[in-house]
Amino acid sequence: EAAAKAAAVNFDSEAPTIFDKIINKEIPASIVYEDEKVLAFRDINPQAPVHVLVIPKLRDGLTELGKADSRHAEILGQLLYAAKTVAEKEGIVDGFRVVINNGPGACQSVYHLHLHVLGGRQMSWPPV
Ligand code: ADP
Repeated sequence: EAAAKAAAVNFDSEAPTIFDKIINKEIPASIVYEDEKVLAFRDINPQAPVHVLVIPKLRDGLTELGKADSRHAEILGQLLYAAKTVAEKEGIVDGFRVVINNGPGACQSVYHLHLHVLGGRQMSWPPV
């Protein structure tokens, strides 16, 4: 039990994630938008009629938003702009939400920065 606890605390957030396999097309994903720097694909466990994840193709240390530094400013802007493009493409631009879960306290499970783009239903506030 102690070892499991230590492993949980010291888990390697720099390890490759399932998103690398999606980027490398080693596992299938339903891609809704792609450019040189950004990939957007449907979440496998959707929490709304539209639920798309927007990720940087190059993680470059961005396991989570809290690890960002000034060199990431450009890609952070590109991700947010891609989220808007996705919302337009998906027809939810009049009511959508962009979410970033950061760290264990926010139930982040994949340590490759990703924006959740959610819509297609009434979004309530506050998020739980
Ligand atoms: P949480 O798992 O609590 O939502 P995250 O913010 O880290 O935390 O979100 C990771 C998201 O990645 C989840 O919504 C999950 O459904 C999604 N996901 C995991 N594996 C895949 C996959 N192979 N294809 C698409 N989405 C995936």
